[in-house]
Amino acid sequence: MIKPFLLNSGRLSIQEYKDGILKSNRFTLAKAITLVESTRAEDQKIANELIDQILPYTGNSLRVGITGVPGVGKSTFIETFGTHITNEGKRLAILTVDPSSQLTKGSILGDKTRMDSLSKNQNAFIRPSASRDSLGGVASRTRESMLLCEAAGYDVIIVETVGVGQSEVAVKNMVDFFLLLMLAGAGDELQGIKKGIMEMADAVVITKADGDNVAKATQARADYQHALNFLRSGSLWKPKVLTCSALEQKGISDIWKVIGDFENKMKSSGYFDTWRKQQQLSWFRESFAHILQMEISKTATLSENRAALETQVVSGSISPMHAAEKLMDAYRQFVRFDSHS
Ligand code: GDP
Repeated sequence: MIKPFLLNSGRLSIQEYKDGILKSNRFTLAKAITLVESTRAEDQKIANELIDQILPYTGNSLRVGITGVPGVGKSTFIETFGTHITNEGKRLAILTVDPSSQLTKGSILGDKTRMDSLSKNQNAFIRPSASRDSLGGVASRTRESMLLCEAAGYDVIIVETVGVGQSEVAVKNMVDFFLLLMLAGAGDELQGIKKGIMEMADAVVITKADGDNVAKATQARADYQHALNFLRSGSLWKPKVLTCSALEQKGISDIWKVIGDFENKMKSSGYFDTWRKQQQLSWFRESFAHILQMEISKTATLSENRAALETQVVSGSISPMHAAEKLMDAYRQFVRFDSHS
């Protein structure tokens, strides 16, 4: 028999989590994030209850998404930019969405030395992603972690993602402002930047604008500004393109100012709230789709059906659409059988 203390090793009561978070206790906040990241059904139940209880204390931060390919300078930028924010007396939380950690077990972003001085800053809280499952699951947990940080009184939340393609959309859908970091002269293709990602950006920052790179960065800024003017013509916010050097601490306050301007404009137009409400709704819908998918994949008979249908699809004996409908029929039958047993 499993000993009871092993069953809830280290877990606090909901009240203890809540009290600790509202008192801004970093240790409790870290433990609460571990709880929401847990895949155990028992932990998830408590996490859901905790999130409901802290909801009234959430929503007061400014949520900023930052993306860019590995090597663009994200961690160096966040270190400098984050220090600028905390120097203004604001408390900053940094969360990461890293779907690649399914393969690397979090090693890309799990390295604490990436943001050395921020990790020692009392007004900053850094939490690398500990994801092991699908992007849907990662994104959902990052959203919940963000709410926990807000309840703990963090004024600004940075959600960072490694630019691997799909996580950007998930991050865009959970933040107020989406910042894309780019290198000058590296070519869009090399940076894995698709037009869709440019379209999502509220600002593009050309990094490493120092030394010999200044002229190239200035040129890239003009080129991207020109491209962006076409991409989002007619919308309330015109995306800005800026340059910065995180190493020389240049251009950082301008970026922070652009974000402030954006916040003021969106809040005064009412769009800030509308966007957040839309995000809540799509979170609910995505969560349901995710849970449903997990439920279906747990069903053994369905996995067998699915494997058989996949063989038929590949051999061309059934159309993919027809196969999908057949699998759904099998699921309906399973649910009917299950509810009568
Ligand atoms: P990440 O993979 O996107 O997090 O990128 P890093 O922050 O680790 O930076 C990648 C490399 O670019 C490192 O060698 C940094 O020292 C360098 N780097 C980052 N920011 C700057 C900058 O502002 N100027 C210059 N010259 N190099 C930089």
